[in-house]
Amino acid sequence: MLTENELLSFVEKMYGASGRKIIEVLMKSKTGMEIDEIAHETGLRTNDIRRLLYEMAQEGFVITLRSQRGESMWYTYRWYTDIGIIKRALVQRFRATLNILNERLEYEQSTTFYICPNDYTIYSFEEAFENGFRCIHCQSELIAFDNKSIITFLKSLIEELEKILKALSTNEA
Ligand SMILES: [Zn+2]
Repeated sequence: MLTENELLSFVEKMYGASGRKIIEVLMKSKTGMEIDEIAHETGLRTNDIRRLLYEMAQEGFVITLRSQRGESMWYTYRWYTDIGIIKRALVQRFRATLNILNERLEYEQSTTFYICPNDYTIYSFEEAFENGFRCIHCQSELIAFDNKSIITFLKSLIEELEKILKALSTNEA
C-alpha cells in the first residue's frame, strides 16, 4: 500500500516540484481546472504549466475535459486528475520499464562478452567464436568479460520495481 505522499513523490521525480504542485492542485478540484486557474493557485507561469500538462497528459497522469460555452463556438479546456488516474499512469509506466529491464536481463544472462585487453574492443560470444577468440584489430587473445555486476544491478532494479507495482496494485483494492 502506497500513501498519497509516496505517489506524489514519484510524480515529483518525473516532473519536478512544479509538476507535483500542479497535480496536487488538480486533485483538490472535483471539476477540473483551466490553465489560468492553475496559474493562480500555484503561482507558476502559464507556459510552464502548459508544457508540463502536455507532458503529463501524454503519459496519462492528467486528462483534458472539453466543454462548450453555452451555444457559442467557444470551448473551455479543463484539466483533471484524481488518485486513480495517477495510479494507473504509474502502473503503466513502471510495467513498461520492467519489461525493458527483464529483456535486458535476459540478454545479459544469455550472452557472454569478450574483451580485447589491448584495445578494449567488445565481442559477443558468437563474434569471438567466429574470430577464434582473437581480436580482429590486433590479434590479441580475447578474455571473457564479466557482466555479473550489470546482472546484479538489473536484478535489484527489477526487484525494486516489482515491489512498487505490488504496492500500487494493493492500493487499487
Ligand atoms: Zn584488439
